[in-house]
Amino acid sequence: MEEYQSALNVQEGIEQPVSVNPYFKRKKATRRALDVDDFVRGILSHDRVILSQAITLVESTNPEHFEKAQAVIEQCLPHSGNSVRVGITGVPGVGKSTFIESFGLHLTGLGHKVAVLAIDPSSERSKGSILGDKTRMEYLSADPNAFIRPTPSGLTLGGVARKTRETTILCEAAGFDVILIETVGVGQSETIVKSMVDFFLLLMLAGAGDDLQGIKRGIMEMADALVINKADGDNLGKATAAKAQYKSALKLFPPNANGWEPIADICSAINNDGIDNVWNIICQFVNLTKSNGCFLKQRDEQLVTTFHDWVDFTIKNNFYSNNAVKNKISELIQSVKDKKISPYQAGTQLIKSIYQK
Ligand code: GDP
Repeated sequence: MEEYQSALNVQEGIEQPVSVNPYFKRKKATRRALDVDDFVRGILSHDRVILSQAITLVESTNPEHFEKAQAVIEQCLPHSGNSVRVGITGVPGVGKSTFIESFGLHLTGLGHKVAVLAIDPSSERSKGSILGDKTRMEYLSADPNAFIRPTPSGLTLGGVARKTRETTILCEAAGFDVILIETVGVGQSETIVKSMVDFFLLLMLAGAGDDLQGIKRGIMEMADALVINKADGDNLGKATAAKAQYKSALKLFPPNANGWEPIADICSAINNDGIDNVWNIICQFVNLTKSNGCFLKQRDEQLVTTFHDWVDFTIKNNFYSNNAVKNKISELIQSVKDKKISPYQAGTQLIKSIYQK
């Protein structure tokens, strides 16, 4: 019978040599784990790879990494603080990443070193991230004077905030003098970001009502500048009109204790228009608040907030990681479910059982 011709038939060919060198023995990974001094030395010599590794250490939920991370942070602290910390918020779609790309490149062009961090509450709920997409900020991420770090995943919002504070310290010690902290303008996360930045920038859209943008009055009140993005093409007129409206709206808010009058402005992130002006506004703010002492006063107040957060976190962490507590909790939860005891009594019993021994 004639042989069936098909591309699926195996045709005899020339024997190929093995593609892997048979004499090659896989070398065991011999890289020594970095110790605290290695991390600190690396960070202080502006080594970005070590900075990234140190941030990973800080973000780790492994208890073994915790003390090491704290030691690194403690040694970096005296070298931190020499930056302008800017919070940037706005609803999804307002143009935050486009703005940060354009703004970041403007800053590196002026000789600054820019770190971009993000606090994204969506990554806690859905494990997906609105802000963490790596494809964003294509040009800025390739800029050697910029460093972009997405939100750490798998943490509560409070956890993310704590890590972002610590990451800020590491970035500053590594020579970054502008820290941009991005968040989605939809709720709680703005208050957290406000508590860790010097200047708070709210990006808005013209034409969409405030309600539509989901921007709460409280967030507008926190803003040091309110910038209407996408002021280009047909939208330019609307944006200019919105600027005038916001300008008068901002006047209705009580004056800031630091003497700064929040500014309304427009920009087009995509066209790079008005981006330089946003930096000028921030510089004016920094000059004013540094000369009247409010810059450092605000930082001092933020240290107090950090202190309280840390005490809160440590108490909770110690309490819930205690085995006696864990056992007692599961026992009490069962009793609550079986309606043997009210949740109030159960809570009180738990605390008493631990603290009144
Ligand atoms: P984010 O969700 O706030 O980070 O917003 P993006 O930066 O992803 O931008 C959302 C959309 O708006 C994208 O399609 C951008 O190209 C567009 N966009 C951003 N900035 C501008 C701008 O200044 N003008 C115009 N016309 N479009 C913009």
